[in-house]
Amino acid sequence: MTDIPSNPSDAPTAADLETLSRQLGRPVRDVVAISARCICGNPLVAATAPRLSNGTPFPTTFYLTHPVITSAVSRLEAAGLMAEMNERLTADPELAAAYRRAHEAYLAARGEVGRRAGTGPVPEIDGVSAGGMPSRVKCLHVLVGQSLALGPGANPLGDEAIEALSEWWTADRCYCGGAWDTAGAVPDQDLSRHGPQGLPSMTGRASPQRNRPAGPENAANEGRAQ
Ligand SMILES: [Zn+2]
Repeated sequence: MTDIPSNPSDAPTAADLETLSRQLGRPVRDVVAISARCICGNPLVAATAPRLSNGTPFPTTFYLTHPVITSAVSRLEAAGLMAEMNERLTADPELAAAYRRAHEAYLAARGEVGRRAGTGPVPEIDGVSAGGMPSRVKCLHVLVGQSLALGPGANPLGDEAIEALSEWWTADRCYCGGAWDTAGAVPDQDLSRHGPQGLPSMTGRASPQRNRPAGPENAANEGRAQ
């Protein structure tokens, strides 16, 4: 705990929390840090406590929030990139080993986030990372979130996905303009489906997300539990 600053520079500000809620179309909870930002400063990835304040274990420590990137990742998923990656994981021991290290890095980073949040042990998700790690790819959003949060080299397949979405997003440009509703009220009611990235469902998935039309891209993002 001594290595965690009491007032870390990536702690979310009130403005960050508002932006996250607008990006996701629902109020965010239990955000511990902003783990990656656009060059303009807006959040790209939120680090969430491993146990939510309502008691629910939360495995998706690094949650990708920027709509431009989440949509681009959904396109990659719809185009079959995960199946291709899964084939390579079974055929390439070196890649499989690097992916297993990404899993370990994910767990270590979650431990740090949990310590900062004062969450305490979360035995329900001990050894369980996210996104299908350590042996499968089930949600590219998780891998991209990890790569953006921990930097290049942390997750080889997250790095590949970021490279593959460069047609729609690159780190050197701001894509925030018009990407979410900045004019209306900040979402204060949870009307989202909780589909993407394994966010625990508390209200079901019947309602469409506010800021994005329900379409194949969002549908492709459903039900990725880990
Ligand atoms: Zn921006």
